[in-house]
Amino acid sequence: VPPERNRNFSIIAHVDHGKSTLCDRLLQSCGVIPENAREQFLDGLEVERERGITVKAQTCSMLVRSEKDGLQYLLNLIDTPGHVDFSYEVSRSLHACQGAVLLCDAVQGIQAQTVSTFHQAFEADLEVLCALSKVDLDYAQKEEVKRQMSVLTGVSTDEVLEVSGKTGQGVPSLLEAIIHKVPPPRGKAQAPFKALLFDAYYDSRRGMVLLIAIEDGELRKGSKIHCSYSGRVHVAMDIGLLYPDLCSVDNLRSGQIGFIVVGAKDIRSFRVGETVWQEGGEKSGEPFPGFKPAHPMVYAGIFPEAVSDGEKLETAMQRLLLTDASVEARRDISPVLGSGYRCGFLGLLHLDVFRQRLSREYGVDVLATSPTVPYHLLLANGTQVVVEHAGDFPTPPAMPPKEVEEPLVTATIVLPRELTPGIQQLCIERRGEELSVEPLDNAGERILMKWRLPLAEVITDFFDKLQALSHGFASFDYQPAGYQPVDLVKVGVRLNNEHVDALSFFALRAKAPEVSRKYLEKLEKVIPAQLFDIGIQAVVGGKVVAKVRIKPIRKDVVAQKILSHGHSGDPSRKAKLLERQKEGKKRLREIAKVQVPPEAFVAMVKM
Ligand code: GDP
Ligand code: MG
Repeated sequence: VPPERNRNFSIIAHVDHGKSTLCDRLLQSCGVIPENAREQFLDGLEVERERGITVKAQTCSMLVRSEKDGLQYLLNLIDTPGHVDFSYEVSRSLHACQGAVLLCDAVQGIQAQTVSTFHQAFEADLEVLCALSKVDLDYAQKEEVKRQMSVLTGVSTDEVLEVSGKTGQGVPSLLEAIIHKVPPPRGKAQAPFKALLFDAYYDSRRGMVLLIAIEDGELRKGSKIHCSYSGRVHVAMDIGLLYPDLCSVDNLRSGQIGFIVVGAKDIRSFRVGETVWQEGGEKSGEPFPGFKPAHPMVYAGIFPEAVSDGEKLETAMQRLLLTDASVEARRDISPVLGSGYRCGFLGLLHLDVFRQRLSREYGVDVLATSPTVPYHLLLANGTQVVVEHAGDFPTPPAMPPKEVEEPLVTATIVLPRELTPGIQQLCIERRGEELSVEPLDNAGERILMKWRLPLAEVITDFFDKLQALSHGFASFDYQPAGYQPVDLVKVGVRLNNEHVDALSFFALRAKAPEVSRKYLEKLEKVIPAQLFDIGIQAVVGGKVVAKVRIKPIRKDVVAQKILSHGHSGDPSRKAKLLERQKEGKKRLREIAKVQVPPEAFVAMVKM
């Protein structure tokens, strides 16, 4: 297929609007995957299958013959995640494309990520095709949703396509639209080879796999490539297309999306967004500007559950950080939790998925400490620092900071009009400031509100509250929007009079006593009773603001327990019990002679 017949496009939409299902139909219609393939075929990660969401953008090539002109085209499709926590995946993918298919559920209508992903595609200068999805559903409101899409994107209502990933309706017309409306890549076939590295991962069998969008020229298998970030030269041991499995070819050409396997061991020397040249090409050409670094929203410590897993965690982190460039990480050593990392994530779901991937894909169970937003501190000596861990907050005898600023976000909320007052109330409770309220359609039934909110109020349970208040009919998305002063304190925690930095956290001064009380009640539940009294105190600026006491377990009860286990008739049950106890022991951390389970550190998340 000549370069002018390549089409590179992404599918973008709000969560659950049918992207992955439509990809299945597109791939089946060209015979890339069998008719009876599992659903959401491209969602290959265990976490994706378990949660039913796309976390990682996936690429697949397909050959399509156009009915209109009878010619064959090479289409490269990138399926993207919809959730705001994975928006960096979307923006990265869009750089490899010239077009995007914006899907919108024909029953639900426009939602917050329909708006935000459209703006991303628009800013990336892509040709945006609009399509209603799930048009097979009885309650589909086709005309109404077409009008909404027209207001959002400026395309006329009769240009909005209708598709169903369930029945396959509209798939042939969508393919024709992609072929005839999305422009071919603009690269020069005769120029020296130049490609954008837009994703990478480590495969235990093949080694480093680089996913690239080729701008100019051609690459042959076995050639030497120059990677702009490290400046190193590697041999392209294998090259090919993604179907969606790696499928080797002899050469890759301008306009294609493909992969290169390099024999490099040092994973850290690659960066998504860098430029890959044929060796020598770097001397005369201009590299790509590189991706904007991700903007972490929440920080948490990541430590191995079993202290002995430190090395395993290091290998796993290197590999996972390569495929998820939106995570910021640096080494951290905690006296209590051992050697681990302090990481920045795009949201709590992102943090949770990251933690789960470490466990499922790399076999390392980790605990994550209380997530915190990054605060700006103006110190007494005039310097400004960013603090993203309560342990780093100056406490007596150090001088308190002169000023503390917290991060803000601009939230985009899309909702039915009648829910507006309830949601406004919620935003006000969360210290929000209303910026605008506009209708999304001519009838004014669907509203788009913008609010400025403190990030700390958004990352906890804001989304859950929004869902509950709106019965799932409101959606939201947010973007960083500067900083504002905040009256913040550090709450220290003492176990049997010993200060435990790993348990300390931030709170608004006015709310510190209440939050502390709740937190201690949580600790009271998760810390097992011992043979002695355990006193736990929450301290702000040297003053105790809350305390609990865990009463000792009586000696005879312990004896009784041992006795009853000893007499348990079933030996395999007993073995299992002992195994579980051992497992449990491994996870406990001894702090001030108190056995603290990992749950104590994450307790803050759920409050
Ligand atoms: P994504 O989050 O945008 O990738 O959405 P998915 O493809 O994972 O689909 C979300 C849900 O909608 C799944 O339960 C699908 O079975 C369902 N779904 C997707 N497309 C259609 C469709 O065309 N018709 C119907 N009735 N359901 C669909
Ligand atoms: Mg999906």
